[in-house]
Amino acid sequence: MKHFDAIVIGTGQAGPSLAARFAAVGKTVAIIERQKFGGTCVNTGCIPTKTLVASAYAIHTARRGAEYGFETSDMRVDMKRVKARKDAASARSNKGVEQWLRGTKNCTVIQGHARFQSPNAVIVNDEVLQAERVYINVGGRASVPGMPGVHDVPFLTNSSMMDIDFLPEHLIIVGGSYVGLEFAQMYRRFGSEVTIVEMGPRLIGREDEDISQAAREILHAEGINIRLNAKCISLAKRDGGVAVRMDCSEDAKEVSGTHVLLAVGRVPNTSDLGLERAGITTDQRGYIVVDDQLQTNVPGIWALGDCNGRGAFTHTSYNDYEIVADNLFNAEHRRVSDRIPAYALYIDPPLGRCGMTETEVKAEIRKSGRRALSVKYPMSKVSRAYEKGETQGLIKIAVDAETKQILGAAILGVGGDEAIHILLDAMYAKAPYTVIQRAMHIHPTVSEYLPTILAKLEPLT
Ligand SMILES: Cc1cc2nc3c(=O)[nH]c(=O)nc-3n(C[C@H](O)[C@H](O)[C@H](O)COP(=O)(O)OP(=O)(O)OC[C@H]3O[C@@H](n4cnc5c(N)ncnc54)[C@H](O)[C@@H]3O)c2cc1C
Repeated sequence: MKHFDAIVIGTGQAGPSLAARFAAVGKTVAIIERQKFGGTCVNTGCIPTKTLVASAYAIHTARRGAEYGFETSDMRVDMKRVKARKDAASARSNKGVEQWLRGTKNCTVIQGHARFQSPNAVIVNDEVLQAERVYINVGGRASVPGMPGVHDVPFLTNSSMMDIDFLPEHLIIVGGSYVGLEFAQMYRRFGSEVTIVEMGPRLIGREDEDISQAAREILHAEGINIRLNAKCISLAKRDGGVAVRMDCSEDAKEVSGTHVLLAVGRVPNTSDLGLERAGITTDQRGYIVVDDQLQTNVPGIWALGDCNGRGAFTHTSYNDYEIVADNLFNAEHRRVSDRIPAYALYIDPPLGRCGMTETEVKAEIRKSGRRALSVKYPMSKVSRAYEKGETQGLIKIAVDAETKQILGAAILGVGGDEAIHILLDAMYAKAPYTVIQRAMHIHPTVSEYLPTILAKLEPLT
C-alpha cells in the first residue's frame, strides 16, 4: 500500500492544477488517469471543436469572398487536413498536461482506472493507494439514451466525431443544444448536408425565445435543416445509412442521412468508481452531491468539475479547483454559490452569456416584487459588425432598477464571446451599469456600443 498526502482521480480541468498545487507546497500527491491526459476539453471537447469551428469559419469566409472583394476558384475542403489541424491542437495540450505532471516533483502519475476501496483508499492497477484527502475529477461522457433502434445503427458522439477525416454526405444531429449546434454549423460549412432533430419546440431551449429564434435563423440561412418537436425519436437502418423517425406512430415522419450524431446531453463518469464503497452520495442522475465548498458527504473527499453537476464547462471545473485550493491553502472561504453563470456557444457568430436570462429575470421580479430594466439591440446597428460584414444577432441586457446592477446579458453576435466579459466583470464588482457608461471604450469595437445600448434601458414587465 502506498501513502500520499492527496490522491486526485482524473486529469480534467481541475485535477492537474490541484495536484501541482499540492506538490508545490511539498505534499506528495498521486494523480490517476485512465484515458487521455487533459480529459474532455483537451481531447474531445472545447479545444478540438473550437479548432474545427475555426476551419469552418475560414472556409465560410472564403466562400463569401465576392462580398469582400476577392474571388476563389475551385475551393475544395480537405477533411484530412482539417482533422490534422485539429489533432495537432489537441495533442499540444494533451502532451503539455502529461509532461507538466510527469515533470512535477512530489507528483506521482499513474495510468489506469481508479476505484474506491474505502473512503481513504483507492485501487488502481491492483495497487492500493491511501491518502487523507481524495479529489474526484472524473468528468462525464456523451449520454446515449435508450431510444428505439439506437443499438441497431452505427451512431457518432462528440468523441467518435474526433476520428472523422471524411465528409459525411448527410449528417443528422439528434439534439439541438450547444454541442449539436456547433457540430451542425461546422459540418454544413465543410460541405455536408445537415439536419438537426430536436425534441423540444425550439433550439437551445434554455435560452430566451428571441435568442433561440435568432440562432435558428443563423443556421437556417446557411441551409441547415431544422426539425423541431420530434417528440419520440427512433433510429433505423435505411439504404446504407440511417433514418431518424420523429414520432412513435406507424407512419412516422422520418429523415434519412448517411451518419447520425447523438448530441443529447452528458452523463457523469461515476458509476464505475466504487463510490458506494466509500459511502459517497450521488443524485438520481449520478452526479456526486457536494456542498458549497465542493466537499462530498464523506469528510476528506471532494468532487470537482462536471461530475458534481455544479457546472458543465472548462471554466467551472477550473473555478472548482480555485475554490478548493484557496480554501485549503489560503484559508479562504470561497463558495460555488458566489460564482456567476457564464458561458459561450461557439456557433458563428457566437453567443456570450452571463447571469440570468430575461425569462429568469422576469420570474425573479414576479417572485420578489423588485423592478428590472431591460434592453434589446440588433447587431445590425453595431458599426463594427457592419464593417466586418457580420451583422447577425442581437444584444440583450437586464439590470436591477434600484441598484442598477446587471442581472444578466446575452450577446449573440460577432465578438460576443469576448464583449460579454465587460458585463460579467461589472457583475462581479457589483458595480452599477452606469460605470460602463462612464468608461471610454475603444473604437471601433462591439464593446463601445454597450454604453449606448445601456442608455436605452426600459422597464421590464
Ligand atoms: C463537444 C464539446 C464541446 C465543448 N466545448 C466547450 C467550450 O467551448 N467551453 C467550455 O467551457 N466547455 C466546453 N465543453 C465542456 C468541457 O469540455 C467540460 O466541461 C470540461 O472538460 C470538464 O472537465 P472536467 O474537469 O470535469 O473533467 P474531464 O475533462 O471530463 O476529465 C475527466 C478525466 O477523468 C478521467 N477518468 C474518469 N474516470 C476515471 C477513473 N475512474 N479513473 C481514472 N481516470 C478517470 C477521464 O478519462 C478524463 O480524462 C465542451 C464539451 C463537449 C463534449
